Amino acid sequence: MSAGVVYGIDLGTTYSCVARVNRSGEPEVVPLSDGAATLPSVVLFVGPDDYVTGEPARRLARARADDVCALVKRRMGDGDWRFVSSGRAWSAPAVSSLILRALVGDVAFAAGESVRDVVITVPAYFGDEERRATVLAGQYAGLTVVDVINEPTAAALSYGFARFNADASGASDAGRSGREGHEEAALVYDLGGGTFDVTVVELADRRVSVVAVDGDHQLGGADWDEKIVLYLSRQFLDAHPGAEDPLDDSEAAQALLLAAEQAKRELSDRTRTTVRVEHDGHALTVPFSRDDLERLTAGLLERTVTLARSVLAAARARGVARLDRVLLVGGSSRMPAVARRLAAELGVPVELRDPDLAVAKGAALYGEKKAIERLVLADLVSRGQILDGAQPDTAAPEDLAAACRRLADAFGLTAERVRRTVEVQVVNVVSRGFGVLALDRFGERSAVFLVHRNDRLPIAVRRSFGTVRDDQDVVTVHVVEQGGGAESTRVDDVKIIAQADITGIPPGFPAGTPIEITFRMGFDGILEVTALHEGLADRPLTVRVETSAALSQADVARERDAVARLRRREG
Ligand code: AMP
Repeated sequence: MSAGVVYGIDLGTTYSCVARVNRSGEPEVVPLSDGAATLPSVVLFVGPDDYVTGEPARRLARARADDVCALVKRRMGDGDWRFVSSGRAWSAPAVSSLILRALVGDVAFAAGESVRDVVITVPAYFGDEERRATVLAGQYAGLTVVDVINEPTAAALSYGFARFNADASGASDAGRSGREGHEEAALVYDLGGGTFDVTVVELADRRVSVVAVDGDHQLGGADWDEKIVLYLSRQFLDAHPGAEDPLDDSEAAQALLLAAEQAKRELSDRTRTTVRVEHDGHALTVPFSRDDLERLTAGLLERTVTLARSVLAAARARGVARLDRVLLVGGSSRMPAVARRLAAELGVPVELRDPDLAVAKGAALYGEKKAIERLVLADLVSRGQILDGAQPDTAAPEDLAAACRRLADAFGLTAERVRRTVEVQVVNVVSRGFGVLALDRFGERSAVFLVHRNDRLPIAVRRSFGTVRDDQDVVTVHVVEQGGGAESTRVDDVKIIAQADITGIPPGFPAGTPIEITFRMGFDGILEVTALHEGLADRPLTVRVETSAALSQADVARERDAVARLRRREG
């Protein structure tokens, strides 16, 4: 008998990866059919009915540039974007679902496990639409998305897991309770290929809380590569003044980019290397050192440090007085300059552990928590010890302990493991402000924010607005999301993510009749908005505003069928 594995999936911009918790309770990455831990998040459409994913797709990226879709994660939440190939158009969730399908297909093939329930990770800065698009991608792939979890939270969980375990091993209950008050704050610095995400998390005894988030979606390893490419082309032209600039030729530019990226990786392990540049009948071997790299890219690194300072200031404003450590995530954080600069800036230990796999492992740990919690809840509800829909911590401690013991017996786990898994709590914050459009005192439409960035989740906020005229029979609710880095009330600066009407309001209500708007956001960051016309209190008319989203219901059904009909080819 099994507790029903909930797999953790890191659906990354450049790479994706699946992890699960093994029988001994440890998170591990499931190797794919080619033995690799990660799958390049690249899809090649081969004709209207077939596709190829991963390394073979990436290898063909240049030969079949028009049919290869990479970096699709950047398009999540952009409802108008489509990738067109062989006369068919695919939305970002549809393309992402092919990556998910490839991953779970590989797990079935390589490990003989069939994947159904998953937790998928998303960047902390993802808004509501991107989160919904991620869930949709999972559904298109035939998966049940139990939850989405923020990447830095997952990384912190995977770090926290090791720490909680170290705390628990050999410690008696009394010994452990002596450490109950132990809390630490960590800065999760996640520098990937194309994005930078920086987050302050608090790790308490059994709680991982995101305190503040910041980042730059247009900053990542690719910018480092770009600086190297410019340097190499300058060196080449200095040596061969009459030659054509390799950057003016797409093939030569692509070759230079690959060489630059390779050199950058090498310089994480040694201090000097050489790069061969060949173009226009000329060749040059350019010596390139770690010092050169660091000098060329110091400005980029400083941008990340500035954002790290700003997220720390936000965390301080929320009561985090002290930082204990930095956790490095993302392939680009392997560059030695990153750890060195952060240690100098912040004066705390900087840890680089599993930078590519920590996020998937954390998602698997969270998935296990979800699986076990579901069973414990069902047990408590079936005995009438808590109400359906309640959280386990609302049960009497002895009932909870007994439920954990029963579950442990049934599934051959230790009672301690079940209890600890149920007790771990993940507390998130809102990544962007959300609100509605309303008329300001000058009669202009402007945004009013009910939920603000870094508010703690889950959240429920209610606010009253008034109708604008007597006998108003329709009220349109526009739900908006903060557009840029800061909240702005200007209509042009916000993104309308949903729109719905309260209709059929009977006559007889004066202008200014209250409309009560409630925003609820769960731990998954998915927003639910309810609007209630006060005048209809005896016949409450509650409108649930679903995000207009990216795709209509009809589109979703059509795309799901189309995706299901596609066949995957092996390279
Ligand atoms: P990710 O999106 O986390 O997979 O990050 C991929 C990015 O990490 C790419 O920009 C890679 O060039 C970069 N990267 C991977 N390994 C290294 C390394 N050893 N040194 C420097 N950058 C690396």
